[in-house]
Formats: sequence, structure tokens, C-alpha cells
Amino acid sequence: SGEEAAAKAAAHLADQDPPTIFDKIVAKQIPATIIYEDDQALAFRDISPQAPVHFLVIPKNRSGLTRLSKATEEHKALLGHLLFVAQKVAMAENLGEGFRVTINDGPNGCQSVYHLHLHVMGGRQLTWPPG
Ligand code: IMP
Repeated sequence: SGEEAAAKAAAHLADQDPPTIFDKIVAKQIPATIIYEDDQALAFRDISPQAPVHFLVIPKNRSGLTRLSKATEEHKALLGHLLFVAQKVAMAENLGEGFRVTINDGPNGCQSVYHLHLHVMGGRQLTWPPG
């Protein structure tokens, strides 16, 4: 059907997103300090930490989610899962006093890696607003 063809074309387009450094971390082709892993998500320490604790939570399969603004209805469960993992790992990292979850989207959001990721930062008093 036309609908199936459109879905296939969309999936193909998603596959065209160039691989990022995070795909290599998922594939364990480059080293990372992985602190949580399940079938859908991976959490690892940011290479350039902006707080005493700074880790990233990513979907293992980017599935078109180069950035949050590409999310569609079918990503809703995955997005919820990533947020749930963020707080679970934050608690395991002793961030019970509080922490921040950030998603940078696009040029104005200062996004540099186009594979959706949640930043989780804590371990010090954070300030507001961010830069
Ligand atoms: P963005 O600016 O929101 O896209 O954040 C990308 C983040 O990925 C930055 O905080 C980087 O420090 C981090 N990063 C880039 N390459 C690596 C890596 O190889 N390992 C861990 N973190 C990385």
C-alpha cells in the first residue's frame, strides 16, 4: 500500500542519518565509561564533564532521533524510558540532593552530536538560567 511504501521510505531516510560517535560507543568500538545498559538505552560518562557527575543517556538505536525535534508518536515510549533511566542512574550516582536533565536541540540549543541524548548533571549546586 501507499502507506507501507511511505513508512519504508521514511525508515530508509532515517537510516541515511550519518553515524555519530555515539553509534561507535553503542557498538563498543570506542571506549566509554558505561554506567548503565539495557536493551534500549545506554548511559555513560561525558568526556568533558560540566559537573562532578555528568553522564549521558542515549537510545541504542537512534531510529531517526538525531534530535528531539524529530520525535514522532512512535518515539513516545522510548522518550519516556530514557527519562526514567536518567533518574534511576542519577539515584545510583547519589544525586538525591538534586540534579539537572538537559536536552540540547539543534544549533540554537548548542547540540553538537546528532544522536539524541539526555545530559544528567549533578554533584554541585547548579545555577539558573543556563548560558
Ligand atoms: P551536545 O552538545 O548536547 O550535543 O552534547 C554532546 C556531549 O557529548 C558533550 O557534552 C560532549 O562532551 C560529549 N561527548 C562527545 N564525544 C564523547 C565521547 O566520545 N564520549 C563521551 N562523551 C562525549
